[in-house]
Amino acid sequence: MKLYSTRNRQHIVDLETALFQSLPPDNGLYMPCQLPVLSTSDLKQMVAGDFQDIAFRLSQAYLHDEVDANSLRRMVDEAFCFEVPLVRLGDRRFVLELFHGPSLAFKDIGARFMSRLMAYFLEKRQRTVHILVATSGDTGGAVALGFHRVPGIQVIILFPSGKVSPLQEKQLTTLGDNIRTLEIEGSFDDCQRLVKQAFLDHTLNQRLVLASANSINIARLIPQSFYYFHAWAQLQRLGISKAPVFSVPSGNFGNLTAGVFAQRMGLPVQHFVAATNVNDEVPQYLQTGIFSPRPSIQTLSNAMDVGNPSNFQRLSELFDHDVEQMRKRITGYAFNDIQTLGEIERIAKEEQYIVCPHTAIASLGLNAYFHDHPSDAPGVFLATAHPGKFANIYPEALRKLRYWPSLPETTTALLQRHKQAIRMPNDFETFKTFLLSL
Ligand SMILES: *Cc1c(COP(=O)(O)O)cnc(C)c1O
Repeated sequence: MKLYSTRNRQHIVDLETALFQSLPPDNGLYMPCQLPVLSTSDLKQMVAGDFQDIAFRLSQAYLHDEVDANSLRRMVDEAFCFEVPLVRLGDRRFVLELFHGPSLAFKDIGARFMSRLMAYFLEKRQRTVHILVATSGDTGGAVALGFHRVPGIQVIILFPSGKVSPLQEKQLTTLGDNIRTLEIEGSFDDCQRLVKQAFLDHTLNQRLVLASANSINIARLIPQSFYYFHAWAQLQRLGISKAPVFSVPSGNFGNLTAGVFAQRMGLPVQHFVAATNVNDEVPQYLQTGIFSPRPSIQTLSNAMDVGNPSNFQRLSELFDHDVEQMRKRITGYAFNDIQTLGEIERIAKEEQYIVCPHTAIASLGLNAYFHDHPSDAPGVFLATAHPGKFANIYPEALRKLRYWPSLPETTTALLQRHKQAIRMPNDFETFKTFLLSL
C-alpha cells in the first residue's frame, strides 16, 4: 500500500513510514494512492460474515502486501474483541453501536487496530516509539487502553484540564506503566497544537522516534471503514437491499472520511450526513463553500468540540477540493445542546433507547436529512459512545428508566483507581523539556 501527502502528490511512502511518521514533513496528511476496490461478489461474500470476518477480508484487501494473512487474522481478532451490533429502532431506522470496546467509544476500533499494526512492525525492527496523543476525551481513553503494556511503545497523552468527563479522566489517568498523562491548562485545540509542534520540532525528532495516534494517522482511518461494510451486511441479512443513508456524528471528521473510503471501495451508500454540534465549520463549508476554522466551543458532545477538524484536508482531497462534488455525497447539519438533550429524551420516550449526546446529534442529522429529502432508503446513525459514560448530563427521570444501560464492571472499577497526571501550562517549551527528559 502506497500513500501520498495531500500537499505534494509526488511525495510517496509505504505504509510503515506513514504509520510511524503520521504526518508528512510538508505538514500535509497521508492519503492512500489507491483504495482497494471490491467486486460485487466480494461484497456478497461479506453478507454472511461477522464483524471480525469482514474486518479480516477488508484488511487483507488493504494490507496484503505488507502483512501476512496469519498475522492479519490475529491482529483483527485481538483488536476487535467485541461486537458491533446494528439495532433496529424503526422500520427503516437503525443505530450502529460502535461503543462496545474497552473504552466504550468507537475510537477503540481505530486505536486497537493501529496499536497491533505498530507492534507488528516494531517487533520486526526491534524499535521503541513515543506516541503523542492530544485528546478531547475519547481518543485518549481508547489509545491508553489500546496501547497499555504493548511492548516497544511509550504513550504520552495530553488532555484539556477540566474539559473531559469524570470517567474519561479516569480512563486517561489511571493505567500507569507505559502510559503517561499530561493535564494541559488550555483547550483541546491547544493540546493539538502542542502535539503538532512537537512533530515538526527538529531537536525532538532527532532524540526520539515520535508517532501519533490521533485520527490524523492513516492506520486509524483504515479500520474505521470496516464497520460501514458490517452495517450494510447486517441490512442485507434483514432483507433490506436499498443503499443506506449514514449519519455520522463528527468532530475531527475521521469517521466520515472513513465512510467515504468505504463508498469508494464499492460499498453501496445512498448519502452521508455530516452531523455536528455548534462547532459547525464543515456544515458551513457545505452551505457556503468557505472553510473557516474557529476556536472550539464547549458543548455536551465534548468529543466533537473541534474548531479546526484535522481530517477536513483529507475529505476535501477526496472530492478534488470541489464543494459541489462533496455536496452530491454529503449533507451537513449542526445542532445545539438544547436540541441534543431534547433528542435524547425523545428517543428514550418514543423508541425506548438511550443515546449519548454525540449519538443524539447523529440521530438529529438523520431526521433532518429525511425531512428535507424524503426517501425509502434505510437510515443508519452511528452510536459513537456508550450513554452510561455521560450519566451526569441526563435528567434523573431518564436514569431511572428500566432500559437505562449499565456500564460494564471493568469500567466502573476504574472509578476507584487513583489519578496520575502531570499538570502543565499550555506552553511548548515546557512540553518539549518534558519530552526530552524521558
Ligand atoms: C471522536 C468522537 C466523535 C467524532 O469523531 P471524528 O472521527 O473525530 O469526527 C464522535 N463521537 C465520539 C463519542 C467521539 O469520541
